[in-house]
Amino acid sequence: MILAVSALSPSANFGLGYRGRFAPSPTGPLHSGSLATALGSWLDARAHDGRWLVRIEDVDLPRCKPKAAEFILGQLQACGLHWDEDVLYQSQRTSAYEAALQQLFQTGLVYSCTCTRQHILNAIEAQGITPNRHQELIYPGTCRPALLLARNFGAELLNLALPVTWRIALNSTDLQQSVGDFVLRRADGFFTYQMAVVVDDAAQNITHIVRGADLASNTARQIYLQTALNYPMPQYQHLPLVLDAQGEKLSKQTLALAIHTENTTLSLQALQQAAHHLGLSNLSNDSHYTIAEWLLVATQAWREQKI
Ligand code: GLU
Ligand code: ZN
Repeated sequence: MILAVSALSPSANFGLGYRGRFAPSPTGPLHSGSLATALGSWLDARAHDGRWLVRIEDVDLPRCKPKAAEFILGQLQACGLHWDEDVLYQSQRTSAYEAALQQLFQTGLVYSCTCTRQHILNAIEAQGITPNRHQELIYPGTCRPALLLARNFGAELLNLALPVTWRIALNSTDLQQSVGDFVLRRADGFFTYQMAVVVDDAAQNITHIVRGADLASNTARQIYLQTALNYPMPQYQHLPLVLDAQGEKLSKQTLALAIHTENTTLSLQALQQAAHHLGLSNLSNDSHYTIAEWLLVATQAWREQKI
């Protein structure tokens, strides 16, 4: 469902039509998995005569690599995946995230948490559950009573100087069991991916989110935040993951190789491989196309197969 009105700038979204985005985290160069996501979201936007935006998700600065953002933007340009508006950098958006956190705080849904990872682990184990070593810990709500306290004494202004974690209270048992009251801002002051992505998708009036299936498990949390913040809800589409020969997800962690875009032939090859990952089966692997010609053919193929 797409609402016509954005909470941030009323009527801004009205009549703008399709607005998609690609939102890479600058932790390394694009690899074939992330290029497939970029291409899929670009083709979907073009096939809908929409706009396509790029947002650099450098909200978690300690995890970002210097120069990775410029490198990624260069790779996109080399592949002819041009964006329609200024690139937005999450590292410059802190005041927007603070305002949204304040707004949530006023609704009485936000509380501070001082649990360490070990506290959380102990609380979970006290319930007789042994969490899987690699699993994200589901917060058992230990500090939730702070929420009631804040409600009883009236909402004061959020004290962002406190070195505490800020969490959102979930009101659905489903979400409580699957993800737990999740973090909006960490004790080190950095906002989380969930918070930043929701605030920015709304600020950029994004109507369609096309991204990798590995992110699908975040969607429910993001819709919960959109509802709490009174933002419109975009449409979500999750693309199948690109797997390596061992059937593992390609990622920077598994040292997936960067795609090569040093010349047009290599860029075209990378695009053709990405299209193959996206299931655009009828595209020829002819190397005589210019990139612009190939992208037109691919857009037509996307229209025929995916819409
Ligand atoms: N920045 C996220 C990533 O690189 C993607 C965010 C999104 O598409 O919602 O995995
Ligand atoms: Zn806590």
